[in-house]
Amino acid sequence: MPDPSSAVLAVLGAGLVDPASPVARADDAGLTRGDGCFEGCRIVMDADGRATVAKLDAHLARMTRSAAALDIGFDAEAWRDLVAVAVAEWTRTGGGEAAMKLLLSRGPASTGEPTGLAWIVPVTAETVALRQNGLKVITLTRGLGSDAFAQSPWLLGGVKTLSYAINMAAQREAERLGADDVIFVSADGIVLEAPTGTVVWSHGRTLHTTPTGDTGILPGTTQQLMFEHAGAAGWQVRETTATVDELHAADVVWVISSVRGPVDVVELDGKSRERRPDIDAEIRRLSGF
Ligand code: PLP
Repeated sequence: MPDPSSAVLAVLGAGLVDPASPVARADDAGLTRGDGCFEGCRIVMDADGRATVAKLDAHLARMTRSAAALDIGFDAEAWRDLVAVAVAEWTRTGGGEAAMKLLLSRGPASTGEPTGLAWIVPVTAETVALRQNGLKVITLTRGLGSDAFAQSPWLLGGVKTLSYAINMAAQREAERLGADDVIFVSADGIVLEAPTGTVVWSHGRTLHTTPTGDTGILPGTTQQLMFEHAGAAGWQVRETTATVDELHAADVVWVISSVRGPVDVVELDGKSRERRPDIDAEIRRLSGF
């Protein structure tokens, strides 16, 4: 766990508070039901030593969509101000590469006022190590068909809700089996996403990822930036429904997200994968890592 003394915490409507102070009431729907949404962002230092949030607009746009899907009020400008206050404090207290969580819950049943937080902690040594060592991944079924979200908006496909208990349980299952992470597969055998990341794979000079929409997977901001930059650098980029066998046949498979960046899969379901540092380095650079 990050040491709270090296964290920054800002609360919507209150501004900066002591990072160790309590911020939620017992009847907050974020606690009692996981009813809310969040973003996980990366903070980097610019040339002038100021902390800045990578892809902040994309994160705020996705959080606007998540909050709308949940019918929770979201004032994007108030959130931008909250982020600015938290990030300025991060710069003032020394800065460095960091992870920022933006958390929005429906709030306490007794007040009906949403709870909003921006929470910044340094990037952990484990994250830095994973970027270098790559990931051992197992595939696990999510038990739903790859079009399960097509006619069912209440399933909240593509919404970054606070309800990550299943995702965390899957990661613990991976650890029990000696792996680092999971790639979820649909009941009909289609590669979906990781519990906290998008799956991207390459064949030659083509990058693939699973389509969002009916699959219910989260549209990844890192994958979108990667595809934009890779497309401009001459790569083909595609949305592809693939089986696990097709993933085994890929040149490189990555699990990617905002804070970890693209991390290459070095073992898939117990089979070692040859690492391709040339391709990996190019894709990391195109993704801003
Ligand atoms: N898919 C899931 C389920 C996630 O939780 C995340 C990020 O946490 C991602 C994909 C990757 O999203 P992003 O690249 O915007 O961080």
